[in-house]
Amino acid sequence: MGKVLFIGVDLGGTNIKAGSVSDQGKVLKEMSISTEADKGQAHVLGRIIQVIQDVAEGSEIGGVGIGIPGQINVERGICYFAPNLPGWKDVSVTPVIKKKLGCPVVLDNDANVAALGEFAYGAGQGSQHLLMVTLGTGVGGGLVLNGRIFRGFRDLAGEFGHITVDCNGHTCSCGRKGCIEEYASIRGIVRMVREALDAGVESSLRGVEKLTPREIYHDAVNGDTLAIEAFQRAGDYLGIALADVANLLNIERVVVGGGIANAGNFILEAARARVQKDALPEAAESVEIVKAQLGNSAGLVGAAYLARSID
Ligand SMILES: [Zn+2]
Repeated sequence: MGKVLFIGVDLGGTNIKAGSVSDQGKVLKEMSISTEADKGQAHVLGRIIQVIQDVAEGSEIGGVGIGIPGQINVERGICYFAPNLPGWKDVSVTPVIKKKLGCPVVLDNDANVAALGEFAYGAGQGSQHLLMVTLGTGVGGGLVLNGRIFRGFRDLAGEFGHITVDCNGHTCSCGRKGCIEEYASIRGIVRMVREALDAGVESSLRGVEKLTPREIYHDAVNGDTLAIEAFQRAGDYLGIALADVANLLNIERVVVGGGIANAGNFILEAARARVQKDALPEAAESVEIVKAQLGNSAGLVGAAYLARSID
């Protein structure tokens, strides 16, 4: 008998990544193809099937897990809406792929599968109650409680990015004021730096044509006070939101990933300090805030882990 493969798929607006993953979380074979999202949903589903078959090379597939950047109905395998995939509205994903491949298929939100990946094989190992926070273009969240993804009533749980940290603050894309996404995301940090520069604060970032987290990090490492304070402020706001999560869920570990997490300690130290100060003492003592370990692979290995757990 040949080996049975478990395959994780990470569907993005630009690329589709698929990989076979061992039960130890090792990526055995990985492939990436362009999504060609502009050609419509049926075409993209075909691309997903193609890349899975390319990875499998004729071997038996034990299960496929797919992470999608959108709103999902996990039980029915439907994607209601995905902002980066034009025309994706109520797309039936699981039934189509299952029929074509003849193996179990499971679908989930990309933030959830990334959290599961870190839980199973990354910085979350050894914990049972975990929040993964992704700091990137926006702020994403995924919850693993009692060792399982927590999805809530309609698979909508984990929207950490829209926790309010300043009810008189900056207006968020969701329409509300002061969501953490407006402070601990790329645009949030860049905005805070720009506001300080406009207010005349002295900084080596003055005159930089295009402010990016990379530029700001570079100057922070070189000791620029404004750059350091921008990350610290983002971390402080992050800590305000995390203190709520610690109090509400007595979370054991917070895993921080995403592009900005590379600015690591400036953000994480400020977040830890704020949680220690704000959360109830027992909740603050229980929670550990750490950097993610799996980088871009978290979603793929998490999706494969999910595929292994299909009943
Ligand atoms: Zn919001």
